[in-house]
Amino acid sequence: MDNNCIFCKIANGEIPSSTVYEDEMFRVILDLSPATKGHALVLPKQHFRNIFDIDEKTASKLFVVASKVARAMKETLKCDGMNIVQNNEEIAGQTVFHFHLHIIPRYTDDGQNINWTPGSSKPEELQQIAAQIKSAL
Ligand code: 5GP
Ligand code: ZN
Repeated sequence: MDNNCIFCKIANGEIPSSTVYEDEMFRVILDLSPATKGHALVLPKQHFRNIFDIDEKTASKLFVVASKVARAMKETLKCDGMNIVQNNEEIAGQTVFHFHLHIIPRYTDDGQNINWTPGSSKPEELQQIAAQIKSAL
């Protein structure tokens, strides 16, 4: 637990939140500035800055929790779709430096646009990039 981290305090119940799910490793809360109705954040109780330092146990349980909550949202909020978003470092839009996964229910005509502009690629370039990444795995 990092005493200077607001999400540590929320995840561990020191600051109240609208909690939709809690277990020994995670708390899922509603976002204070929701993109859509039901926008939630999955917070590990342990402090990790982002994907670059999250541990294997937390990473492996994360989508079990996220999919559980996603199904509950679909059933109760009747959303038409869902975006799962996870920002890492400032350049990627991270503003709170405690790992969190956004679960954003989508509704027809909700006016949101969670997207990117597609680029272009050459097959040999993709092969080279794949080999580069693979070399560190
Ligand atoms: P990021 O931009 O880091 O991916 O997302 C941070 C998210 O946390 C934002 O969507 C923001 O609205 C939300 N947020 C920031 N502070 C609080 C807070 O104190 N409580 C809750 N519930 N959400 C917060
Ligand atoms: Zn933290």
